[in-house]
Amino acid sequence: MTSRRMTFQCLLATGLGVAILILGAPSAAKAYGSPELEDPPVPKSLVPPGYRLVHGDILVPDVEARSGGAPIPWSDGIVYFEFDGNVTSTNRQLMLSAMDEWNYSGADVQFVPRTVGNGSFYVHIQLSDGNNAAIGMQGAGQTINIVSWGSKFIMAHELCHTLGFWHEQSRTDRDTFVDIITSNIESGHEHNFDKEQNWLSQSTSYDFDSVMHYGQFTFTDCLIPTPGLCETIVCRTGYEGWQWFIGQKDHLSSNDIQDMKNEYGSNSIGPRYIDWTVSPSAEDGSLRYPFRSFALAEATAPDNSEFWIRGGTYDELGTTILDKPGTYRVHNGLVRVQ
Ligand SMILES: [Zn+2]
Repeated sequence: MTSRRMTFQCLLATGLGVAILILGAPSAAKAYGSPELEDPPVPKSLVPPGYRLVHGDILVPDVEARSGGAPIPWSDGIVYFEFDGNVTSTNRQLMLSAMDEWNYSGADVQFVPRTVGNGSFYVHIQLSDGNNAAIGMQGAGQTINIVSWGSKFIMAHELCHTLGFWHEQSRTDRDTFVDIITSNIESGHEHNFDKEQNWLSQSTSYDFDSVMHYGQFTFTDCLIPTPGLCETIVCRTGYEGWQWFIGQKDHLSSNDIQDMKNEYGSNSIGPRYIDWTVSPSAEDGSLRYPFRSFALAEATAPDNSEFWIRGGTYDELGTTILDKPGTYRVHNGLVRVQ
């Protein structure tokens, strides 16, 4: 398997004179499941002493591997981090962008640079030849290994492990939704499809759209994955429409974020999304149901909220806008208010 080839191309807009960041496009109708979209294999050499690898890319301490309780959440939702000297400044920025997906998700979690004296537990992020992460809060300098710096949502996936979450298809109720085709799994990797009994929050329904879900060919034993012959995960009757979408790595799903909120609490000030291209059945400012106007967003959101604005033209002439303190971020294209 090769590293993912996804790129995010965004134009910055400054017309509003407000803070600008980049956000990956909301869930586009796009097929996933091709082998290049799966996690690269993780060489054994990446496993630090005292740890072992489970589910393909999750590091757990040897002494409690698979036998202990749920992963440990981070105190106050704060994850201190440091970069290894082998991480370039470009890759550091890319990782910070992935962290912002969680920092601005609305869940009360924050990745914060480690400084002297600000945290005895922290993660050490380094360039490696695979992607994996220690799950939950484990210790001082616990590892995040990254090779796919070009994929924000592979990194967001690993950060989600750090925050304490397993893979979606490891849920104990997964057999209602997907079949694991054991005969197609590469020998020696069957354990990566084990169920996990001990979770942090898991109150949302099974989520085919989760950034934490494997793709349909993950760990297949086929050299050339062939639909109908090589799947390791098959969506069950009634859910077939998800078959080519499981394993997506271009956004956090609504349930990914909700699970994080359920565990760590909700940050009431943001973010809200404004997107004129979506026609939601209910405008609540979420990624799935964004506001279609600045006016509704401002009327509904508290002071100091974060607003993520889809590029485009908003016809709100005469409406009082942008008079509420907050941060406005444009994730692609130009924004024109007329
Ligand atoms: Zn993973």
